[in-house]
Amino acid sequence: MRTFAKPKVVVSKCMEFAACRYNGDKINDPTVARLADYVEFIPVCPEVEIGLGTPREVIRLVSDGDESKLVQPKTRADLTEQMNEFAHEFLGGLEEVDGFLLKNRSPTCGVSDAKVYSGLEKSPVVRTESGLFANRIQQLFPLMPLEDEGRLRNFLLREHFFTHLFTISDFRKVKNQESITELMLFHAKNKYLFMAYHQENVKRLGRIVANHAHLAIEKVIQQYENALHDLFHTPAKVTSHINVCQHVFGYFSDQLSKAEKQHFDEMLEQYRNQKIPLSSVLAILHSWCHRFENEYLLKQTYFEPYPVGLIAISDSGKGRALS
Ligand code: SF4
Repeated sequence: MRTFAKPKVVVSKCMEFAACRYNGDKINDPTVARLADYVEFIPVCPEVEIGLGTPREVIRLVSDGDESKLVQPKTRADLTEQMNEFAHEFLGGLEEVDGFLLKNRSPTCGVSDAKVYSGLEKSPVVRTESGLFANRIQQLFPLMPLEDEGRLRNFLLREHFFTHLFTISDFRKVKNQESITELMLFHAKNKYLFMAYHQENVKRLGRIVANHAHLAIEKVIQQYENALHDLFHTPAKVTSHINVCQHVFGYFSDQLSKAEKQHFDEMLEQYRNQKIPLSSVLAILHSWCHRFENEYLLKQTYFEPYPVGLIAISDSGKGRALS
């Protein structure tokens, strides 16, 4: 089994950490609870941090032309500037961070689904967008793993978020070491994982590592990091995963029985039809890597891109894969 460094993740504090919601509630979130063993959380409640107590009067986003203001209808207080200042100071003060996991639908933390109302009282919703704190994260860390708990109930989106998060965290070690050898090893062990995400971007990453222009190591690592985030911009497609699985299967196909081959084909078909997760297919391939002692494949992160303990989180069944 792989060993993983703990990624640093900023998380909405009301999820598992504190009863700081406007109504004094705390949210039980299975993803956050499970992740606690594998990541270093940095919990924050921006609304409490700007001095709103718990419990507190509700706040909402109100449309102001093309912009939105964060206001508290009962007191008519405009909290926009306070929240922006807090977000700027808090996020600017983070020394190292690998990702963000926020509460959905919040006017502060919502990543994309915070309601924007036309006015203070009983007014219609005119659009949805990111909350103020989440919006500042998107501005300052546009390429970083960022998700809300609602979307992470879907196992495909969760798988993508975890893969991006733990790969970025692993890359941080390479970045800190500033070693071309470490970068080459990182690139080599992630080959099949990256292939599943984007064939063209894998070639781009390879050209950066080859460094034919003899750039300084800091420049090479910077270019590689940008290309790495580009690679994870969208989740890998089911069809790409199937191509990679078939490619890996090719290493063993001559040594397998007819029944084993047939069983593998059936598993791939079930994965294609989204009846089983990718991890079920990878478990078979991984067992063959051990059985046939393929050291090259055993080093590939593709078989365990994030800790296996995180696979067990139950799924809502909502959402569909990219085919
Ligand atoms: S959603 Fe964000 S601001 Fe609201 S209670 Fe949770 S942590 Fe605090």
